[in-house]
Amino acid sequence: MPIYDFHCPACGHSFEALVRTSDSTPVCPQCNNALDKLVSAPAPPGKSKAIIASNRRAAARAGHFSNYSKEEQSKLLR
Ligand SMILES: [Zn+2]
Repeated sequence: MPIYDFHCPACGHSFEALVRTSDSTPVCPQCNNALDKLVSAPAPPGKSKAIIASNRRAAARAGHFSNYSKEEQSKLLR
């Protein structure tokens, strides 16, 4: 079941939803406006990097440094 990104032109609300192909056009959960379907695009590289960085920070807080390269570890532990 594909995940679609939706953007409501009426109220500006953006959200993702799983949509069965048999479903009719989804409506905005905020204002019930009927929406156009947009195929969810893969996260841009910048966003992925930010996600990886935040995961690493979370791991570091938990005391796991295995996500880091040796170089990065030496920076962090300095
Ligand atoms: Zn809306």
